Amino acid sequence: MAETPMLDVQTTGGKIHKTEEEWSKLLTPEQFHILRRKGTEPAFSGALYQNHEDGIYRCAGCGAELFTSDKKFDSGSGWPSFWLPISADVIEAHEDSSYGMRRIEVTCARCGGHLGHVFPDGPRPTGLRYCINSASLEFEKEPK
Ligand code: FE
Repeated sequence: MAETPMLDVQTTGGKIHKTEEEWSKLLTPEQFHILRRKGTEPAFSGALYQNHEDGIYRCAGCGAELFTSDKKFDSGSGWPSFWLPISADVIEAHEDSSYGMRRIEVTCARCGGHLGHVFPDGPRPTGLRYCINSASLEFEKEPK
């Protein structure tokens, strides 16, 4: 009898669903803690905080394109900061009242991975600051 292969990725309506066990095998422990457990990396610790190269920032969980370098700015917060995502539908916003704060959490619309938070103190023209964990992102340098 032929063995039925395990589906690696289950996609419904353009969204990716995986079990916690599948995610834990796919991601590093730090990525799993942040993307799947809504963790936060220490400020000024992430690999992409000081990245100023031209390119695209993808979701470290599913590869979805989330941000571009031309919308990145130095917020001084210690986390990669953007004033606009690549398009409105790649990110979902959720009210977050954890830790006694009222914040807006942002997640990857495709895989549900936790990215960070969005705050209303960013630069013009949007006035928004998408404060994103480095560990939730993968940077793809623009070919020269
Ligand atoms: Fe994702």
